[in-house]
Amino acid sequence: MRSFLNVIINLPHAEEGAQRPSRSTHGIFAAFSIAVLLCLAACFAHAADWGSVTSPSPGPPRVIGGPASGCLAGAAELPPDGLGYEAIRLSRHRNYGHPETVAFVERLAREAHDSGLQPFYVGDMAQPRGGPMTYGHGAHQNGTDVDIWLNLDRKPVLPVSDREEVELPQMLLPDHSDIDPAHFGALQVTLLRLAARDPRVDRIFVNPAIKRALCRDVAGARDGDTTWLRKIRPWYGHTRHFHVRLACPPDSPECVGQTPVPPGDGCDASLDWWFEVHPPTPGPPQVGPPKPRLPAACAALLTGP
Ligand SMILES: [Zn+2]
Repeated sequence: MRSFLNVIINLPHAEEGAQRPSRSTHGIFAAFSIAVLLCLAACFAHAADWGSVTSPSPGPPRVIGGPASGCLAGAAELPPDGLGYEAIRLSRHRNYGHPETVAFVERLAREAHDSGLQPFYVGDMAQPRGGPMTYGHGAHQNGTDVDIWLNLDRKPVLPVSDREEVELPQMLLPDHSDIDPAHFGALQVTLLRLAARDPRVDRIFVNPAIKRALCRDVAGARDGDTTWLRKIRPWYGHTRHFHVRLACPPDSPECVGQTPVPPGDGCDASLDWWFEVHPPTPGPPQVGPPKPRLPAACAALLTGP
């Protein structure tokens, strides 16, 4: 039941593999929810297979397919602890990724530590062989995605077993109209800037209110070079963590990347869209996008050694 609720509650998190939503997105998401209900049995059986795998496949790393329809061979495991970070919810077996994704997390954590930040928590990456998850995400399938928590308070170092149910504050006011300055400020801006400036990072998803705060120069976000703001993209949810997506690694020709981020800093009408009311489009009921098919190479990966 928990899995079921999580899928429904977290539907918008299925994001991140999608294009910029159209003006009737809210209606589409409602229809999409119904479509998901109808295919629950099949979808869960499929995702459960991938979720029950506890070891990566042998051999060189290979990203196959896209973030919302893909898998991962030769994954690397993010160690539970490292300088500047702690991985959480390790019982989910979602602390795997392409070696470049693991290297990115370790690099960001080192840079954050060197900048004087407290360690951050690392949430879901991918399953040992990637693939669909039974709850929580539509993306995170091909080993190029990682969730990083924005809370940077000084925290006690927890044993792995105590990192399953961590409750950290969200960055927004209760009505989600804006950031909460008590929780989002210079430390978070520093971390996002470090992440976005990493050359391997393709884009970073944050709540639209966080993007808007950066655009209006909260905590000096626009000081100096502002080109990093381009990679910060607004998306549903993401009130406690940000979602980093790396570009396709050079060793993976089967990796399917997203449409390039448009030019500019994104502090424009495309951001305003998120704060406008969008009535549902009249006309026949819209069906959600079909569930993306996994690349054929993923089937062999699931059943192989
Ligand atoms: Zn995510």
